[in-house]
Amino acid sequence: MLRWKDILYYAKYSNPEPLHKVEKTEEEWRQVLTPAQYAVLREKGTEPPYRNAYCRTYEPGTYTCAACGQVLFNSTEKYHAISGWPSFTQPASRGAIRYTFDDSHHMQRIEALCNVCDSHLGHVFNDGPQPGGLRYCINSASLIRLDADLELP
Ligand SMILES: [Zn+2]
Repeated sequence: MLRWKDILYYAKYSNPEPLHKVEKTEEEWRQVLTPAQYAVLREKGTEPPYRNAYCRTYEPGTYTCAACGQVLFNSTEKYHAISGWPSFTQPASRGAIRYTFDDSHHMQRIEALCNVCDSHLGHVFNDGPQPGGLRYCINSASLIRLDADLELP
């Protein structure tokens, strides 16, 4: 289980190694992403609170990166955070996400990026539920949910 001290360590020193990398030019990303996805994933945009696809959905399934397909989160770690965006308390795996300090908008936050394709997902905070205490606040446009029944038993 990841805790806040792990996130700080990753952001400050070194992120976990991804299983593989996906690299495209910005022009190639524009061709495969919708304008809304591109604005969030590649330009670090933020979609409006509550008016986004996965804010209030809790169907079982797997949330993958909308850009490269990497599995990022499981629905079992999704919870209601009253933030207006889908919120998770742990990633699907330790190496799925990379972290970096983000000082934009006069705030000190930690940005969460896909570790495979370096696309922007959202931010991670230390006010999530115990025992891990993490809150991943993620844009719906960064995610594609796959139904649980696609998984093998
Ligand atoms: Zn990705």
